[in-house]
Amino acid sequence: MLKKPTQVITIKGRVQGIGFRPFIFRVAKKLRLKGYVKNTKSGVVIECQGDKTKELIKILKKSPPPLAKITNISIKTIKKPPYEEFVIEKSTDFDGKSETAEIMPDLAVCKACIRDFTTKTNRRYFYPFTNCTQCGPRYSIIKKLPYDRPNTTMDKFLMCESCSKEYKDPKNRRFHAQPNACPVCGPKLYLCNNKGEILLKSNNLIIIKKVQKLLKSGKIIAIKSIGGFQIACDAQNDHVVMLLRKRKNRPTKPFAIMVKDLKTVRKLAYVSKQEEKLLKSHLAPIVLLQKKDKAEISKYVAPNNGYLGIMLPYTPLHKLLFFKPKLNNVSRETFNWVPEVLVMTSANPKGEPIVSTKTEVVKKLGHVVDYILDHDRPIESRCDDSILFWPSLRNSRVRWAYPIIIRYSRGFVPQPIYLENIRLKPILAFGSDLKNYFAIGFDNKVYLSPYIGDLINETNINFFFEMLDKYIKWFNFKPEIVVCDLHPDYVSTRLAENYAGNNKLKLVKVQHHFAHLAGVYAENNLTGDAIGIAFDGTGYGTDHAIWGSEIMVFNPGGYERIAHLKYMPLIGGDTAITNPKLILKAYLDIIDRNLPVNITKTSSMGRLFDAVSSLLELCHKQSYEGEAPSILEAYALKAQNNLSRDLLAACTQDCFDPLAILKSIVEFKRSNYSISELALWFHKRIVNETVKLVENIARMRRIYQVCLSGGVFQNRIVFTFMASRLKKLNFCVYTNKQVPINDGGIALGQIVAANQMKK
Ligand code: ZN
Ligand code: ZN
Ligand code: FE
Repeated sequence: MLKKPTQVITIKGRVQGIGFRPFIFRVAKKLRLKGYVKNTKSGVVIECQGDKTKELIKILKKSPPPLAKITNISIKTIKKPPYEEFVIEKSTDFDGKSETAEIMPDLAVCKACIRDFTTKTNRRYFYPFTNCTQCGPRYSIIKKLPYDRPNTTMDKFLMCESCSKEYKDPKNRRFHAQPNACPVCGPKLYLCNNKGEILLKSNNLIIIKKVQKLLKSGKIIAIKSIGGFQIACDAQNDHVVMLLRKRKNRPTKPFAIMVKDLKTVRKLAYVSKQEEKLLKSHLAPIVLLQKKDKAEISKYVAPNNGYLGIMLPYTPLHKLLFFKPKLNNVSRETFNWVPEVLVMTSANPKGEPIVSTKTEVVKKLGHVVDYILDHDRPIESRCDDSILFWPSLRNSRVRWAYPIIIRYSRGFVPQPIYLENIRLKPILAFGSDLKNYFAIGFDNKVYLSPYIGDLINETNINFFFEMLDKYIKWFNFKPEIVVCDLHPDYVSTRLAENYAGNNKLKLVKVQHHFAHLAGVYAENNLTGDAIGIAFDGTGYGTDHAIWGSEIMVFNPGGYERIAHLKYMPLIGGDTAITNPKLILKAYLDIIDRNLPVNITKTSSMGRLFDAVSSLLELCHKQSYEGEAPSILEAYALKAQNNLSRDLLAACTQDCFDPLAILKSIVEFKRSNYSISELALWFHKRIVNETVKLVENIARMRRIYQVCLSGGVFQNRIVFTFMASRLKKLNFCVYTNKQVPINDGGIALGQIVAANQMKK
């Protein structure tokens, strides 16, 4: 038989279990190609004959299926007998375990599924566990690999005939969708009281309508989401939001809200095109948006804060809570309210991880909630909602290319962070004590854990090791080096020391701010030396002082600390963090005196923000970390970037000295400037002095790349002003892209630094 030239295309990366083959099938049919597509151990393989193979490759490169992440395409030409049609071929040698196995993160519900459960004639009408290859739970239901239904928490649900048919049909959207389910065969919804007793079951429409009614009447409800329970209440009802604050013992820390749709989001906050895309992405994170003055929302949701943490409904259940079905006349009278904005905060006792079972809700939060909306699809691994923001300000032309991560969890975990230019030894990093995440690194990738929380209690430490065990198994990881922070009193340091000791592994300790910056360096594939600015709360320094405003020249092999805020006394050690007034008092007490010798010294930028917030009478005592600086930022936002000329003139002075800054503010306060103006002045002054220092370093060392990291850069004014000033001066400016900019990013930097260490 005559043989025909045949292209063999091998595609690697995240290309399996996401509807990749049906996509190829459709494109190939359209291009009239003949041949087949199939899954193999080393990726997806296509063999095709026809004139338009080039176009297929072009489409793959330019507009692959939305969830695909192609890392490599290789093509070779062979000769084969002619194929008659294009087919999806059964995988032969393939047991689901590919070389490039990736566990997908949990994905926000897709449009096609929304259509399914909101269409009255569809068999999934009002079914809150609808999903497909493009959406639904993944990470949170996986018990072990390979990712196959029997290895997930869906193992106890036997697919009905209709679901099975979808699951086996390569052309169906639900082909190999492991959590595939329907009202006949899948998980079920239950409405319970706060003792856990079932009140309603089986009819989804009636349960959801009942929940809407309860929310409207001011009830607080625990709702089982993808990675854990959330606590919901009507965010437009002052009374219930206050009640939730009282019951949760959470006086002022902002609550995240879930908003019905984009149109409603726009009524509450300013939304840029980029922020809109982020809200609607399959990550569906909480996005911090600049609050509108007249937003119709309870003032207790985010008191004294310039931003609202907003997310869109990301599971079918959420979507249905906001959905108003067309009902007949009778039921319309009884059920006519749907919420617009709900408080949707993680269900956890103060300082502990998110809870994932009804039993835990009853035990730990029974006094907080009135009802529990539960379901019987178990959560295997917990994860919170992720939080991001886009560093731009209204009325400012600063544009930044990517969003900044504040909390890394749902939608991110457990995907690898790829580092080009680096080969990693197998390294386990213990991270930082506050906002803890661990990370494992090998080859050219790093896996960051979900948000663990602060390592302040047994529950969180247990969560840490529960997840560490899973990561070690999933990624077949054997650490050779353990790395932790330099702080001698950190819990994470102690845990790392024990772990290294017990497993006879080498232990490396890395300075906190160097770790912040080393992460940025590696994430951006930099070479040579860089200037680093780490503005932060606290980090233990090599001179035993508490650092936190470090300007360094560095590369992953080492650093030189060039400048920092002049040392100030840190009274009360770690307890000072909750008490800006105490910090301020200690600072002012030493005016005109020298720093006592035997006192803890600090160059923390975070503490200076605390002190200024207290000096401007905005916050004397914090009820959560970062409260004082966020109120300060909210006031600075109100000044709308307008400063009186004399204030502007006093913005740049050549001393990186907290006392000089505080003294100026004391003087300004006498001359009737508004608090907003003074708050803005302070932000500008910090930025201007820093930029001047950086310019001097650049001139001397001829370094033009600058890395920014640390918790203070969560302050959008500081970040955008700093980045735009530096860019105007032709510096290349980098920050954390794939990990949090706060201490959540430390573990990545620890790995990068430990990997470079000699010996
Ligand atoms: Zn879907
Ligand atoms: Zn079914
Ligand atoms: Fe830090």
